[in-house]
Amino acid sequence: MLPDLSITPATHSRLADVDFDDLGFGNVFSDHMFSMQYRDGRWQQPAVLPYGPVAVDPANATLHYGQAVFEGLKAFMGGDGTVRIFRPDMNYKRLCDSCERLCIPEPDAEHFYGAMEALIQLDHAWIPRRRGQALYIRPLIFSDESHLEVRPSQAFRFLVMTAPVRAYFDESAAAIELKVEEQYTRSAPGGTGAAKTSGNYAASLYPGELGRREGFAQVLWLDGREHRYVEEVGAMNIFFRIDGRVVTPSLVGTILPGVTRASVIQLMADAGDPVEERRIEIEEVVTAIREGRMQECFGAGTAAIIAPVGGIAYRGEHLSINDGQAGDVTRRLYDELTGIQLGEIADRHRWNRLVKIDAGESARRAAR
Ligand SMILES: *Cc1c(COP(=O)(O)O)cnc(C)c1O
Repeated sequence: MLPDLSITPATHSRLADVDFDDLGFGNVFSDHMFSMQYRDGRWQQPAVLPYGPVAVDPANATLHYGQAVFEGLKAFMGGDGTVRIFRPDMNYKRLCDSCERLCIPEPDAEHFYGAMEALIQLDHAWIPRRRGQALYIRPLIFSDESHLEVRPSQAFRFLVMTAPVRAYFDESAAAIELKVEEQYTRSAPGGTGAAKTSGNYAASLYPGELGRREGFAQVLWLDGREHRYVEEVGAMNIFFRIDGRVVTPSLVGTILPGVTRASVIQLMADAGDPVEERRIEIEEVVTAIREGRMQECFGAGTAAIIAPVGGIAYRGEHLSINDGQAGDVTRRLYDELTGIQLGEIADRHRWNRLVKIDAGESARRAAR
């Protein structure tokens, strides 16, 4: 635990109210949250508090100008009783990159890991046990200063909250349908597309809603300059298998560098079937589907892990991929990733950060 961490335990646990058979995604939160303020040029004492509202001034700069970054990662309870956080080092590095782009001071790695480990110790009973479910960890840093001047703030708050979440994809889950978005863009060269920042999501809501009204689960984003190259799907990275080769758009600065994306690339390389990272024209994708050379397509991101794509709508034409079914590589990658996350498959690259639950400590706390 962090040496200077102050802990204020919740007086009443809400755990008994949670239906673990019917979890959503981020609609219930565990009993505690981590909080640390940035004041006078440095991060102050870290604290764990009961989860609850945070007071902000109406002139809080985040509300007006969106100076905020976040992360998303998952912890899993293995059958062996060990908790595994999947690749938090990648999320820490990306958080620091996002902070730089948004003029936010980086927190120390010690606090980043210490926050989630303290929350897992206190709220380990919140980690779901059913296969596919997980404890989603959401770190967030936002401006905590009141000013309407457009400038970087000097006061911030770093929060970490955790939420038990459902499994996204199982054998029965349908593959998702995508709409190729040719009018709006998510990200532009020189913009903030590679940073995990709130504004990117705000800008994606309207095109996402238009797509949903037409019955599409997600939007397939093209590049912001020419609407010619494929970039991402919703809030996931995208992979295609064309003529037997797995390809994904290269990280050209407008694409969010996903941890799941990097993991898929590593697993494919391990299997001796390397992923091609390159620019991919939407015309190439459409032609490959029409000619029956597209074997499968999937999205990759922490929430869904691997989400099969069953079809793409392009200029009014519906193009079905693999009869709307998850393909072999899609399934294999999902099984491999979840196997590593649950401790069932050897963690060759030491991706998991293990947390041993200190049962004695939990019992002492409960007795207080
Ligand atoms: C978070 C995110 C992803 C996926 O990243 P993971 O680290 O795999 O969860 C992809 N695209 C966008 C826009 C994202 O915000």
